[in-house]
Amino acid sequence: MNSEKPYDAIVVGGGPAGSTVATLVAKRGHRVLLLEKETFPRYQIGESLLPATVHGVAHLLGVDEELKNANFTVKHGGTFKWGSSERPWTFDFAASRRMAGPTSYAYQVERMRFDKILLDNARRNGVEVHENSPVTDVLKAHGRVTGVRYTDGNGQSHEATARYVVDASGNTTRLSGKSGARREYSPFFRNLALFGYFEGGGRLPAPNEGNIFSCTFEHGWFWYIPLSPTLTSVGAVVNQESATMVQGDPEEAMRRFIAACPQIAEKLADATRVTEGPYGQLRVRKDWSYCNTTFSAPGMVLVGDAACFVDPVFSSGVHLATYGGLLAARSINACLAGDVDEKESFAEFERRYRREYGLFYEFLVGFYDMHQSESSYFWQARKVTNASVPDLEAFVELVGGVASNELLSVAQVRKSFEDSSQQLSQLVDTRSDDDEHVIGAVPSRILEQGTALQGRAVIGVNAGEGRPLEPGGLGASPDGLSWVPDTTRTGNTA
Ligand SMILES: Cc1cc2nc3c(=O)[nH]c(=O)nc-3n(C[C@H](O)[C@H](O)[C@H](O)COP(=O)(O)OP(=O)(O)OC[C@H]3O[C@@H](n4cnc5c(N)ncnc54)[C@H](O)[C@@H]3O)c2cc1C
Repeated sequence: MNSEKPYDAIVVGGGPAGSTVATLVAKRGHRVLLLEKETFPRYQIGESLLPATVHGVAHLLGVDEELKNANFTVKHGGTFKWGSSERPWTFDFAASRRMAGPTSYAYQVERMRFDKILLDNARRNGVEVHENSPVTDVLKAHGRVTGVRYTDGNGQSHEATARYVVDASGNTTRLSGKSGARREYSPFFRNLALFGYFEGGGRLPAPNEGNIFSCTFEHGWFWYIPLSPTLTSVGAVVNQESATMVQGDPEEAMRRFIAACPQIAEKLADATRVTEGPYGQLRVRKDWSYCNTTFSAPGMVLVGDAACFVDPVFSSGVHLATYGGLLAARSINACLAGDVDEKESFAEFERRYRREYGLFYEFLVGFYDMHQSESSYFWQARKVTNASVPDLEAFVELVGGVASNELLSVAQVRKSFEDSSQQLSQLVDTRSDDDEHVIGAVPSRILEQGTALQGRAVIGVNAGEGRPLEPGGLGASPDGLSWVPDTTRTGNTA
């Protein structure tokens, strides 16, 4: 057993949550060790991303350009056969003034590639990354987590110590309980997902061909995610009664589920299921939603699926993982700099993280009531977010991951301003306006507002992302990587 010199932070897990927190702590010049059990690229589910991740957090990480060049499918929004409407309905991220223009899209990603981009970026930013190195336990002293025990690729056991340990080891974490946290499962979202990959599946008509398509059927709902022009991720999320069909013969269950959903059956009529390589098997995941009773303890913090998970219908997993990673990095950076008291710093992290999780959770409870129209869902989104914008915009802000008002920062919008005119005119040229079903399909009003928003950014009007969530709380530092005390407490204004 080796004992190594202390780190500022040790991050367990190299998924989106782990890579985010590790990179953003290393960017402040701190010494960070990231330990990952697998060797990347490794398979993971969670392929449909949100604008808040690919423009907001990715910009802070410095990978937004790399993602742009990675040739991932561009996702302008979502198409749903859901609720009382007979016909599918579509929303565009561009319907939100916060996202209109150059930040009005996300990507559908192959997680093997996406997660490796984030992990390699962590390395480039100075994080010491050890793959094939599972963490087996945490170390404690005087009521504080002080480090971890892990095994290296040669099977040799090591101990490493740090001021902070981050559990970002995903939904199968064995460490979160060491912080004193208890995982509480939702009594409401208790589904099971059966998923696989198809070559040659049909696409939604342009301009929605990159959208996620979500479609209810008698056993639950399907996701249909175009990962490339020919490869599609297809998953059936079924209720507990139908879950027994999967336990017997997953192949047969998948065939029956597809046959029971005409819209998916039609898209897959000429498709072939992939049966080789990393996409070659049907996989099953119990996707029960859960949340830990606490996200932090002295010396330790939980992020991503290690902290909480909410039903995947709005593709919020990677957003919550990377947003949680950003918030944890702010808290760690503030404490390492001695700027903020540790308890206060982690309370701010937890308050913001729980708020974002809670918004998705509360909204989803209403969304699972299939007897409502889409306009009623939009109204509910406005109600849970308490937004002062029209219903549709509140809905799009929530499902785009920008309800917190801090992920599409002024800096990002300003950076994008140069290409905005060109991209806005491309949007006008490429999107059809004869489809009445496209809700919020970039009408000229929104394009104008998008341009106005960018204009305001250019002249330096603060969007408010740095403000405390509550009076007396902490605000984000100008670079977004740390917390600063609320200046209104001392009578100053931001
Ligand atoms: C059915 C289903 C569909 C989903 N669809 C979507 C979607 O469309 N969009 C979306 O955004 N999200 C989706 N999600 C959620 C998404 O998969 C997760 O929220 C996301 O991957 C969480 O990221 P993470 O970094 O917390 O964890 P992970 O991505 O799981 O990464 C954790 C890492 O920790 C490593 N690790 C584990 N244990 C140890 C250890 N002891 N030592 C060292 N390393 C360890 C693992 O190998 C892994 O690489 C879906 C989830 C499910 C179940």
